[in-house]
This record gives sequence, C-alpha cells and structure tokens, in this order.
Amino acid sequence: MDQSSIDALRAQDIAPRGHFINGRSQDGETGARHQVLSPINGQPLALIAEGTPADVDMAVRAARGAFEDGRWSRMAPAGRKKVLLKLADLIEARALELAVLGVRDNGTEITMAYKAEALSAAATFRYYAEAIDKIYGQIAPTSGDVLGLVHHAPVGVVGAIVPWNFPLMIGSWKIAPALAAGNSVVLKPAESASLSLLKIAELAAEAGVPDGVFNIVTGRGSVVGEALALSMDVDIMVFTGSGTTGRRLLEYSARSNLKRCYLELGGKSPNIVFADAPDLAEAAKVSAAGIFRNSGQVCVAGSRLLVQQEIYEDFVAEISRHAEGFRVGDPLDLNSQIGAVHSLPELQANLDFVTKAEAEGAERRTGGNRILTETGGYYMAPTVMANVKETDTLFQNEVFGPVLAVTPFADEDEALRLANATVYGLAGGVWTSNLGRAHRMVAGIRAGVVHVNTYGGADLTVPLGGVRQSGNGHDKSLHAIEKYFDLKTAWIKL
Ligand code: NAD
Repeated sequence: MDQSSIDALRAQDIAPRGHFINGRSQDGETGARHQVLSPINGQPLALIAEGTPADVDMAVRAARGAFEDGRWSRMAPAGRKKVLLKLADLIEARALELAVLGVRDNGTEITMAYKAEALSAAATFRYYAEAIDKIYGQIAPTSGDVLGLVHHAPVGVVGAIVPWNFPLMIGSWKIAPALAAGNSVVLKPAESASLSLLKIAELAAEAGVPDGVFNIVTGRGSVVGEALALSMDVDIMVFTGSGTTGRRLLEYSARSNLKRCYLELGGKSPNIVFADAPDLAEAAKVSAAGIFRNSGQVCVAGSRLLVQQEIYEDFVAEISRHAEGFRVGDPLDLNSQIGAVHSLPELQANLDFVTKAEAEGAERRTGGNRILTETGGYYMAPTVMANVKETDTLFQNEVFGPVLAVTPFADEDEALRLANATVYGLAGGVWTSNLGRAHRMVAGIRAGVVHVNTYGGADLTVPLGGVRQSGNGHDKSLHAIEKYFDLKTAWIKL
C-alpha cells in the first residue's frame, strides 16, 4: 500500500450505482437515486439507487427462486467452497481498491480499512469456505430398529442489514457463512456506505456465485430495510446496527412471519484499569487506541474508562496526552492515524453529547470540538471527559464517536458494579496483574467479550456478540454459522 496508488484510486469517478439483483446491476422500480456525500470533504461522491418495497420484493423473489431450484443450495459443499475461495482471492487481489472505495463513503482511516475491511473480508470468505465441507450431521443414539439422522439444512432466504461502520467486514461476517451454508441472501447496506459491498456483489458473480443467490438492495432503512424485515418470504434476519432499529426488527418479525432475528447492537463498554496493572503506560496507549481509532465508531470501543482512585489523575493525564497526540485528518492520507466522523448528523450528535456532559458536571480534559473545518469534511478532536458520574447521560448512552467517559472507582466491587451499570453488554476490558482478579472480572462483567491486559483485539476464531441490550447473536467463528442452518431430523424405521 503506497500513497500514489491510493491517490490514483481516489481520483476515479464513481458511476451511478443500481441495486444488484439476480446477478446484475438494476435500476429498480422508479430509477430514483440518492446522493452520497463523502465525509472526507463533504462533497457529493456517488449516486446510489433509492430502493422501494417493490425492489425488495424483486430481490427476495430472485433469492427464493435460486434457493428452491437448488443451483446453490443443493450444490455439493465442496463446490460452494471452491466458488467462495475464488471470491476470497478476488477480494484479496482488489483489496486496496475496495478499501479506498469504502473509505471514500465511510471515512475510516485507510490503514485500518485495508486490514479490517478488505483483507478481513477476504479472510472471512476463506474461513467459511474452508469450514463448509467439514461440518457433519449426526446419528442419534436411538434403539436399533430406527435410525435418527440430524441434518443441517440451509434456512432459505437470509435478509441481512448492516451499518456504515466497517460495511465490508460486518457484511462478510454475515454473507460468507450464510452462502457457505447454502442459503440465498438479500443484503441492505447503510444508505451512506454501500459502495464497497456493491463491488463485492460483482466479484461474487465473477467468482461463480449463481444469479439470484446474492442480491443487494440499496436505499433507506425505513423503506428498504423495513420491507426486507417485513417480507413473508425471508426466513431469518441478521442485523448489525443500533438498538432502536434492532427493536423495530423484532416488531417487523412479529407482524410478519415470525422470522428469527439475530441482532448485533450497540455498546458502552467498560475498560477497567486497576492500580496493579502490569504496565500503566501500555494500558494508557492501548486504551486510547481502543476508543479513538476510527473516530470511536467501533461497536466494541472502550468508551467508559474506569480508573482506580490512586492512579486516577495520572492516568487521565496520560490518556489525554495520547488523545492529543493522534494525527487526525484525511483518511486516505497514510499519515493520518484517525479519519473522519461518518456524517454531519453523527458529528453534531457527538458534539451535543459533550455539551450535555459538561452541563451534567463532567470535566472536559481535551477535545470536544470539530476540527479541520476548512476541508469541508467531518472531523472531531479525540475527547476525554473526566469525572463522569454513573447517572450521567455520557455514562449510560452510546456516543459512537471519539468521546471517552472517565469515572474513578475505589475497589474491585465498585469496579464491577459500575461496569455492569448500563443496559449494554457488548465488550469490556480489565488491566491487572492479579490473576484471580482478572478471572473474577471476566466472570463478572456482563459482556460478550472481555479483554485482559489489552483492549480490542480478536480474530475470526472467536465469536463476537453481545448480551443484554447489545444483542442476541454472534458473528465470526464456527458458532456464527449455526444460525444459517435449520436442524432437520430424519426418523427412519429399519
Ligand atoms: P442504524 O440502526 O441506524 O442502521 C443500521 C442499518 O439499519 C442501516 O443499514 C440502516 O439503513 C438500517 N435501518 C435503519 N432504520 C431501519 C428500519 N426502520 N428498518 C430496517 N432497517 C433499518 O445503525 P448505524 O447508525 O448505521 O450503526 C451504528 C450502530 O451499529 C451503533 O449502535 C453500533 O454500536 C452498532 N454496531 C454494532 C456492532 C456489533 O457487532 N454489535 C458492530 C458495528 C456497529
């Protein structure tokens, strides 16, 4: 990855984009398009098809038709594996192009987008492709006069809705296992970040995914997303996004065909630093990256820093120093460590959180303001708010921006109580050199993942999912593929 290749890719015009239905780009019912703005400079970037319920219907019919005739669902797993491995290779070969395209509409710093978006998407397709011919059914321990077989049957048509942060990574976490298991997919990306996923659909066709098996309908959540989740012919919904939309999906399911909904939602994850942490300097550095990279637009961001009283002031000073040290700027500049906030409304919401936090008594130690306004883009200084109380809005609510809430605690009991004092349960972190304490905190923190003496790392081998109001499903690992199968029993009299 070098700057001149990035600059050449960013200079390319983006043609108006249609939906991807039945193996080709289609304009949809009305031919209407909406304008996508680039967070890098606030300028118009691309025209994207504005989907309608009729477009969703067309995509679902294509997906159902492909599923029922078995062109993919009844292909031997080794055959699907071959196609998906080819797709992984194509993604990898085009990784920089995909990453730059994604950054142009979502604003993530390119160094992160290249690895966490493009290369991670290739790795995800490879992982589930490799897995699919190694998953066996079961023979039940019945009496000798019958044979009970438990099959893994693909569920049918999978509806997927994904957010604007990490569309390729999160999209692949859903598309890859769903396709590997033999399902058809209709995906709705975020209206402001569809470009890189539309490219993946083209690459899927090139790799040999048959027409109708993987479809994308672009457009607004309240129109396209709602129609997809209300469809009587979608068998399950997999979703990543906000809790507000997640609740709606459950309602749509109840109002339609009772489809299962797997929800990956928001968080307000506690990152807990004890005075006995093995390396406080390292803890400050990693914790700063754990909230500020990608402008805090990371679901598992350690957005609530809980610091033991005796080291509190020094640690807040150290993390503020890191916050001020980040180079925020053009996300396509290799020198930038932090890119843009995704949109103007998001940026304004972040600033409003800071204003409210101050009104509720928190102290702004650094940041809290919009920067680089001369670029026309949406940039915010990494922000540290100290002495945030348990009852404060900033303690309880997800910002999804570069705003860290810091709260002191006295001892282990108080740390654990504060860690669990929100409605969320996505991630957490604990820094301590006391092994017993580390295990007690891992057991006690109500979250899908707890990091010890690090923050934010993971790979495909482990599941990611929330508990409580952070969701009810899992992406990644072999656990994630289970939801794309129905268990079907064959009871055979011998
Ligand atoms: P969002 O809920 O506003 O949008 C997510 C998707 O839902 C978009 O595609 C949107 O168009 C669609 N949508 C909106 N309204 C809809 C409706 N009425 N019916 C159907 N679909 C609808 O969320 P966002 O702002 O795009 O994403 C940020 C949120 O996602 C944050 O809360 C973040 O924590 C969460 N997130 C969670 C994870 C995780 O793994 N748990 C990962 C990334 C992001």
